[in-house]
Amino acid sequence: MAVHAHPDDESSKGAATTARYAAEGVEVLVVTCTGGERGDILNPSFEVPEGHEFESTEGRRAVRRLEMAGAAEAMGVRQQWLGFVDSGLPEGDPLPPLPEGCFALVPLEEAAAPLVQAVREFRPHVITTYDPSGGYPHPDHIKCHEVSFEAFHAAGDPERYPGTGEPWEPLKLYYNHGFSMKRIRAVHEAMEGAGLESPFGDWVESRDAREIPERQVTTLVPVADFFPQRDAALTAHASQIDPKGFFFAVPRDLEVDVWPWDEYELAESRVPLPEHADGEYEQDLFEGVRSEVPA
Ligand SMILES: [Zn+2]
Repeated sequence: MAVHAHPDDESSKGAATTARYAAEGVEVLVVTCTGGERGDILNPSFEVPEGHEFESTEGRRAVRRLEMAGAAEAMGVRQQWLGFVDSGLPEGDPLPPLPEGCFALVPLEEAAAPLVQAVREFRPHVITTYDPSGGYPHPDHIKCHEVSFEAFHAAGDPERYPGTGEPWEPLKLYYNHGFSMKRIRAVHEAMEGAGLESPFGDWVESRDAREIPERQVTTLVPVADFFPQRDAALTAHASQIDPKGFFFAVPRDLEVDVWPWDEYELAESRVPLPEHADGEYEQDLFEGVRSEVPA
């Protein structure tokens, strides 16, 4: 179960991993907390699909549902909405208050209840989400972490969240880290080495300047064979992803050579795991699970 804040996050974070596991026969469910109703058009070549509009909240929600269906099909996964409303990314100084009724303002137990129910219904062995910082400071990404963490811990407890199904205890919890500095730097240097313009120049400089502590990556899942599915999923989010933009600025053959992995941090495990030597990474989100769970 891959839990994400908005439609398109599942395509920009860990998409090749979900596509790979789905292709291998794992049941994969993407859970999307909000409808992405406060997203702007970020692709200059975007054309509103016929019979749709992108002006009203309902219109944007409908377009983004259509796009999400295309992305889920490209990755070969199922997808479920939790039905919360996008909080938007507050901008300005001082920051404006969050809009009434948005996901980030919903009290934790109320916000986590539908996810606990989804966990009890789908019964995942592994859950992926964001780290406590949200990965980037969008209030919905932080809230996505909070509800995922809560569901991972509460779903197996029969005393918690009554009326949301039979208890189910997931075995591993991961945080997505697709934009680690190690990856950004490796790709940046390879692009400069090849005489190409890197999309990460400012990123490397600003991260260096801010000295943001890196989270610990424990797991590198080899996914190069599933970059095409990931790219198709990204492209399906036509209102959000510019096919000539940031996400497509790195040539795929260079990416396959330099960074053929999706990165994760193992946050919690309820199964015994083998030790990995320094500099070695776990390569499978289901390590330690396959031996515990009958196929
Ligand atoms: Zn998002």
